[in-house]
Amino acid sequence: MHHGSCHCGAVRMKLPSTPVVGTDCNCSLCRRIGGPWVYFEFGTVEIEGHPAETAAYVWGDKTLRTIHCKTCGCVTHWEPLDPTPGCKHGVNLGNFDPALIASVRVRKFDGADTWQFMDE
Ligand SMILES: [Zn+2]
Repeated sequence: MHHGSCHCGAVRMKLPSTPVVGTDCNCSLCRRIGGPWVYFEFGTVEIEGHPAETAAYVWGDKTLRTIHCKTCGCVTHWEPLDPTPGCKHGVNLGNFDPALIASVRVRKFDGADTWQFMDE
C-alpha cells in the first residue's frame, strides 16, 4: 500500500489503490502547488493529522478546499466543500515515494483556460 506524508510528517496519507494516471494542471493555484494530482473516491484515502494539523484554502467558485500542513506548508490534498455520494477528491502525489510518482502517466490539463487535457 502507498503511504505518503507532508514534509514534516504531521499529515499522513494512505492510498486505497495504485494510481496509474495523474494530472498536471496549469491553473493559477495548481501551477504554484505542483503535483501531480491523483483522484480517489472521497473518503477512501486514509488521512491522519487532518484537520488537526492542517489549514484550508478556498477560492474561485468555492466548490473545494485545498488542504496544507500548518507546520511545513506542503499541500496534501483537496476535498469538496459539499461532498455528494461517490464524489472524488484530489491527492497531491508529490507527497509520496518518488518511484510511485515516476510510475504514473502524467497528463497535462489546461485548467487555466479551456479545461481540456492538452494531450487529446
Ligand atoms: Zn507538515
